[in-house]
Amino acid sequence: MMLTDKVAVITGAASGIGKDIAKVYLAAGAKVAIADLNIDAANATALEFDPSGERAMGVAMDVTQEDQVNAGIEAVVAKFGGIDILVSNAGIQIVAPVVDYSFANWKKMLAIHLDGAFLTTKACLKHMYAQGRGGSVIYMGSVHSKEASKLKSAYVTAKHGLVGLAKVVAKEGAEHDVRANVICPGFVRTPLVEKQIPEQAKELGISEDDVVKKVMLAETVDGEFTTVDDVAQVALFLAGFPSNALTGQSIVVSHGWFMQ
Ligand code: NAD
Repeated sequence: MMLTDKVAVITGAASGIGKDIAKVYLAAGAKVAIADLNIDAANATALEFDPSGERAMGVAMDVTQEDQVNAGIEAVVAKFGGIDILVSNAGIQIVAPVVDYSFANWKKMLAIHLDGAFLTTKACLKHMYAQGRGGSVIYMGSVHSKEASKLKSAYVTAKHGLVGLAKVVAKEGAEHDVRANVICPGFVRTPLVEKQIPEQAKELGISEDDVVKKVMLAETVDGEFTTVDDVAQVALFLAGFPSNALTGQSIVVSHGWFMQ
């Protein structure tokens, strides 16, 4: 699957899954904007993947802030001349039982995952529609777009919400050949997950080893973590898929943890 000279914006691409998607898209010939709250890490990632500075750029963006999102997308269009692919990927995790979940943390989680997806979608769709060459919008959902786990009320709510947003964008975007889909990974060993292991061990009163074996990977077919590259290959497939045959879908990549 090639993305020759397609322009991709990937949020949260200074780390983890988003960073690997940026690498895979560049290798497939795309021009890539690495949008992140952490601009130093975003710039370092762009330089690491494309020392020439011609095909990758770091973009400062808090996805919860409309002015920052709009300014970031305009900067991408100014440098690369348009937008063909959006990967709305930025995300965090905060775990606690519902009874202890602070309202502030609930709102923070919904803002990053849902407001961020809405604002970046809105800003990119305007360009995709005006350009008249179609586009692909990809949301980073999770098995938690389909399933629930204890301690993750806000995350599960937000990730389910992305499936609804993708379906609406698939319907509205169709007449412009803009497609929208969701990738739903199982556990991937990124900083987001490394942080959770001791937190869940404390909340559940079990060892960190048991969090990995009995909570995170218990339902997989082989006890294995999903990798960043597994997810990036699916993101490449969705970005390059050439027709509206594949839109409004969510694809689970989880070693069989969840089977549709
Ligand atoms: P990560 O912590 O490695 O990377 C997340 C990136 O998002 C960081 O670079 C961070 O700076 C950035 N970010 C955070 N808040 C932001 C904001 N407000 N604006 C812009 N950027 C922001 O995490 P990851 O594991 O690579 O997660 C990426 C996405 O994948 C998230 O949406 C996460 O929910 C989803 N996901 C992860 C897993 C997993 O097991 N790691 C599984 C399923 C889904």
